[in-house]
This record gives sequence, structure tokens and C-alpha cells, in this order.
Amino acid sequence: MLSRLDLPTVLLFYNTSLLAGAFAIVHVRRNSCRPEGLMGLAIAYLMLAAGAALAWKGEEAALPAAVWTHGSLLLGTAGYAVFLAGILAMSGRRRVRWGLLLTPVLLCFLVGLVTGFPRDNLSRAGVFHAAAVLSLACSAHEMLRNHRLEALPSSRLLAALLALSGGVYTLRLVFILNGTAGSAGFSLAFFVQMFCHFGIALMVATISKERAEVRLAQLADTDPLTGVGNRRWLGTRLPKQLRGHSAVLQLDLDRFKRINDQYGHAAGDAVLVAFASCLKAQLRESDLLARTGGEEFLVYTPNVTEAVARSIAERLRASVEQLQIVEDGTPLPVPTSIGVAWVPDGSAPAEACLPRADEMLYEAKRDGRNRVAFATMAVQAPDRAA
Ligand code: GH3
Ligand code: MG
Ligand code: MG
Repeated sequence: MLSRLDLPTVLLFYNTSLLAGAFAIVHVRRNSCRPEGLMGLAIAYLMLAAGAALAWKGEEAALPAAVWTHGSLLLGTAGYAVFLAGILAMSGRRRVRWGLLLTPVLLCFLVGLVTGFPRDNLSRAGVFHAAAVLSLACSAHEMLRNHRLEALPSSRLLAALLALSGGVYTLRLVFILNGTAGSAGFSLAFFVQMFCHFGIALMVATISKERAEVRLAQLADTDPLTGVGNRRWLGTRLPKQLRGHSAVLQLDLDRFKRINDQYGHAAGDAVLVAFASCLKAQLRESDLLARTGGEEFLVYTPNVTEAVARSIAERLRASVEQLQIVEDGTPLPVPTSIGVAWVPDGSAPAEACLPRADEMLYEAKRDGRNRVAFATMAVQAPDRAA
């Protein structure tokens, strides 16, 4: 059945898939939080559609041979160069080397003008297919690289579709070189290519959606002022049962309201930002830091002996105290009180440790502020905790 389809019909389907893909990508771009590269991809789809339309009209002898042969080759090769540029920009490359991508296209066009090789069907198709294979192979490789960076589920699928599309072009090139371009296999390759056009546009849209979801999740979990996790994030990361040799630290800036009252809210904000980054700089990868209230932060630190938990708390207090924040030429004091609940061998529920650390915090406040108050939790036996 496929071999009975004439070339204009196949090209009509082919162009429809490219136009629908371009439309979908433009629509996605309008609502995307990261639109980089999407316009390039839509333009590439349109260029490829225009190149195929020229070839189609050429086959119907509606255009002078010199126009459609040179024109379709230029649009096809430039279309795949722009396509690769779009993929590179979409995957997050800051600088896309347009010159590097478009110079071979222009050179090929000029060589074509001088030698007239595009007038020969085999040479024209060979060059176009080789450009497509190269562009799609590089694009697939780029999306695999992107998957390692962003780990979006759809970037792998997009890489697979790009590789499939490149594979189909390779197959079509074989058909052309064997002189079997009119066979059912050649037409089937056209249809697989259309499937790839739709699939690639769909995956581009899905990647855009997945990025928006990741961004939303980040926003929902992050304190916008200090950039550290918020209470919601802490709830998802803090174990329900705290293992032995771990500690919870509740930190609260002392007399913070005075800074706001005396120097203004912006100065207060600057203190909070400096406070959070000072804490972050002191902690390990495995520790958790969250802003749980206005000027209240929580630290969870696993795998610490009692002595280490005490020294971490004291080190945090001392380094916050030494912060050099200057407002109107006056250094702002940033003392902080810290309540610690340390879990010895065994384990203790987080819902018991947090209030205990809070009690210790208020003990530190009562005892004069700018100090650490420490409590050791009553624990459950190790076997029951497991
Ligand atoms: P204490 O030593 O007892 O903890 O006294 P304090 O003044 O630190 O505590 P209090 O609870 O009386 O005041 C906390 C202040 O923190 C009040 C509030 O305006 C301020 N605050 C809360 N969130 C923010 C914020 O995001 N930015 C700024 N600049 N201030 C904030
Ligand atoms: Mg306070
Ligand atoms: Mg407070």
C-alpha cells in the first residue's frame, strides 16, 4: 500500500507533520519558564517544511530546476543546522556557535552554485541526508548529556527519538544510494520520520512541563529570602525516627526585633541572609538546614558523638557571633541562642526531639542568650527502633 502512495501525497503528510510540530513548539514557548532554543526549533521545523515544499513543487515541474534544487538543499541543510542550535540552546548551553553551524551550510550552498551538484538528485539527496544524520546524532548526544545534568525523564526519550530519526535518515540514504527510493521501505521510512517529528515536538513540550514542575517543587521547598529549605522541605527530609548519634539544633537570633526597629527591615533581611549562609558554610553535605520561622532555623546533623554535637553547636554560635555585618557604618551584633537535643545509642522520634531542642533553646534564652543549652534524649532500644 505504501509503495502505491505518490511522492506529492507523501510530501503533503511530511509537511503537515513539520507544520504541526512547529505550531506545537511555538505554543509551548509562549508558556515556558525556560524558552531558550524553542524558537530555533520551531524555525527549523518551518525551514524543513519550506524545503520539502520546494522539492514537491519542483517534482511537479512548477518551478525552475535551478530554484528548487538549490533552494530545497539550502533550506534543508540550514534547517538541520538551526535545529541543532535549538537543541543546544534548549539543553542549557549558554553560547551556541551559530557561525560554526552555519558556515558549512553556506559553503555547501556556494559549492552547489559553482558546480551545480544539487541538480543531480543523488548528490543533492546525499548531502541533505548526511547533514540531517549529523545534526540528529549531535542532538541525541546533547540530550543524553542533558539527562545527566537535569535527570528529566523525557530528555532520554527525546534522545531516543532523535537517534531514531537519524537512523531513519541513514536508511533512506541507503535506499537512495541503492536506487530503491521508490520502494515501500522508502515510503515507510518517510512515515517513521513523520512519527519522529511529532514525537520530538511532544518531548520538547514535555521537557518544558517537567522543568516547570521541578521549578515549582523547588519554589515550594525553598525559603525565598535565604535560599535554604523551608519547614515543608524539612518535613520531607527529616527522618521520623532519629537514629542514635544524631542531633537536632534549634537556632534563634537574639533580640532580632531590635535590628529591625533600629535599622529597618532591609537590614534585618541582610542579617538573616548572612546568618543562613554562615550556617550553611559550617555544615556537612549530610546535614539538613531549614528556616523554620522568622529568625528561627533548624539543623539536623547525623553521625555525631555527644562531644561533636556540642562542639558543632558552639562553633555555629561563635561563627554567627563573629559575623561582620555593617549598617550605616555601625557593625550589627548577631548573637544567637541554640537548643540541642542529642540522641545517644538507640533512636528517638523526631516529634519528641524537636520540642526538646525547643525547650533547650528557651533555656538558653532564659540563661542570658548567646549560648548553647544541651539535652540528651531518652531513647528507644536499638532493636525496637529498627
Ligand atoms: P529573642 O531574643 O527573644 O528571640 O528576641 P527577638 O527580638 O529575636 O524575637 P521576637 O520573636 O520578639 O522577634 C522576632 C522578629 O523577627 C520579629 C519579626 O518582625 C522579625 N522577622 C520575622 N521574619 C522576618 C523577616 O523575614 N525579615 C525581617 N527583617 N524580620 C523578620
Ligand atoms: Mg529571636
Ligand atoms: Mg523567634
